[in-house]
Amino acid sequence: MAPIADQKFMYDLLVIGGGSGGLAAAKEAVNLGAKVAVLDFVTPSPRGTTWGLGGTCVNVGCIPKKLMHQAALLGEAIHESAAYGWQVPDPKTIKNDWQALTTAVQNHIKSVNWVTRVELRTKKIEYFNALGYFKDQHTICGKMKNGEEKLFTAKNILIAVGGRPRYPDIPGALEYGISSDDIFSLEKAPGKTLVIGAGYIGLECAGFLNSLGYDATVMVRSIVLRGFDQQMANTIAQEMERRGVHFIYQAKPSKIEKQTDGRLLVNWVDKERQTHQDIFDTVLFAIGRKPLTEELKPEIIGLQLIPETAKIDVIDEQTNVPNVYAVGDVLHKKPELTPVAIHAGRLLARRLFGNSTEQMDYINVATTVFSPLEYGCVGLSEEAAIAIHGEEKIEIYHAYYKPTEFFIPQKDVSNCYIKVVAFRNGDQRVLGMHFIGPNAGEVIQGFAAAIKCNLTFPKLKDTVGIHPTVAEEFTRISVTKRSGLDPKPQSCCS
Ligand code: FAD
Ligand code: NDP
Repeated sequence: MAPIADQKFMYDLLVIGGGSGGLAAAKEAVNLGAKVAVLDFVTPSPRGTTWGLGGTCVNVGCIPKKLMHQAALLGEAIHESAAYGWQVPDPKTIKNDWQALTTAVQNHIKSVNWVTRVELRTKKIEYFNALGYFKDQHTICGKMKNGEEKLFTAKNILIAVGGRPRYPDIPGALEYGISSDDIFSLEKAPGKTLVIGAGYIGLECAGFLNSLGYDATVMVRSIVLRGFDQQMANTIAQEMERRGVHFIYQAKPSKIEKQTDGRLLVNWVDKERQTHQDIFDTVLFAIGRKPLTEELKPEIIGLQLIPETAKIDVIDEQTNVPNVYAVGDVLHKKPELTPVAIHAGRLLARRLFGNSTEQMDYINVATTVFSPLEYGCVGLSEEAAIAIHGEEKIEIYHAYYKPTEFFIPQKDVSNCYIKVVAFRNGDQRVLGMHFIGPNAGEVIQGFAAAIKCNLTFPKLKDTVGIHPTVAEEFTRISVTKRSGLDPKPQSCCS
């Protein structure tokens, strides 16, 4: 136990930002005896959307996204169920009710906001609905909703303010566009939607909107899912196209105008500098996120930010100001993922208040893109492994497969594909695993633990599969790309 309670300060730890990283650190710190306060404040989106305590993941990120993805999967299941003998009405008459969906999603979120507030109270973490900024390196000014300002002093300060969607600097973007901050609570069904940006958020939103019955188009500036294995990323885009999502490649929006009927006229420019236009009901920007660090007045304490991105470079979550720490989406070159923010926050609290020396390991963090056919991965992509180690040292194993549950409804299996990236010689350590198919997140999570334990290709092959599952396909994989042999599905049960 290490309660610091330096009498000079009101708190041992003041957390700015009540999202995934900040709350995890706060809870761990109080468990270790520290006196903790959390400031959390949500500035409304340009459209005016706002939400409660808990940060991006709970309110406008992972949770509503996964629920909408689930709604989309259920729609797919209803259509398939007829093939399994369910007497469903004519599939053409089945429709999703947007208002009912958003109400259900928002009710769930409100219940999580409530539970979070109760948990903070029970744990005696002081919570203030206030926008914080630095007064000096131990003092934060918190601006409440009513404009009142309050000073908070703390021995240690944790920046966990996350980020918000960026908007491009084009006419009409801020006036007429929306972002992921708005889509999950949009009062009116989105209708024909243009999603600008082909990262995680762009593909996931376009995917569930299309599956819910809306016309969805993704505008891709360069490539889809930059940073991911490009063969897998292109397979995801191909599968989305097969399901009806439109893609406009190598294009950038240039102007959005509102027509008299309320619909949006969007102009964009292609790589030959030709201008095109089309009309949409909704334009959703998913072009990346901006960290909320400049609003903290970092210059007051000499806190250094990366000039191009305004992110914070840390060593072991410590900034260049010794008593000021940072976790989560504000960090330079670290994955912007909830479990990363949570784990880093928890470990930091243990180091500050629990005599721990354990550091956060940001390598080999698994992730999943919840596109209609999901893509989960951990470790290196094929191109990254080759760039780092050289083609001769790397073996790529790959396979197409047929999920058993796809047979009866005769679902298309052409993009059910997996890949293992491993060293070719020596212990043949596995460097990366990639899975496209149902429940990709569930499949990859376990293999991520195996990779953390230095999984080798022989050990993977020596693992007895669970039949009939899609995850067992990794234990059956054997064809190398180098061999040129056909990676098409092996027979079901041999
Ligand atoms: P946040 O959770 O963003 O919390 C920061 C909090 O600080 C916010 O409440 C903010 O309003 C508040 N704040 C900001 N400035 C101040 C200030 N000056 N004073 C007081 N409070 C302030 N990750 C996954 O792992 N899986 C997913 O499936 C996934 N899906 C996502 C889907 C979408 C649409 C989005 C947008 C993100 C998704 N993410 C996902 C990413 C995940 O949400 C973030 O990585 C995570 O929330 C980051 O946590 P954080 O603590 O850094 O910041
Ligand atoms: P990303 O950085 O992943 O993608 C941004 C996309 O927008 C890229 O395709 C980029 O293209 C494009 N783009 C950037 N600027 C412009 C512009 N001016 N005009 C047109 N296109 C542009 O950001 P996201 O917003 O999708 O996601 C942010 C983070 O949130 C992710 O990195 C991820 O960590 C997290 N997240 C995680 C999820 C999960 O775990 N399932 C789901 C959703 C989000 P280009 O490649 O050319 O730069």
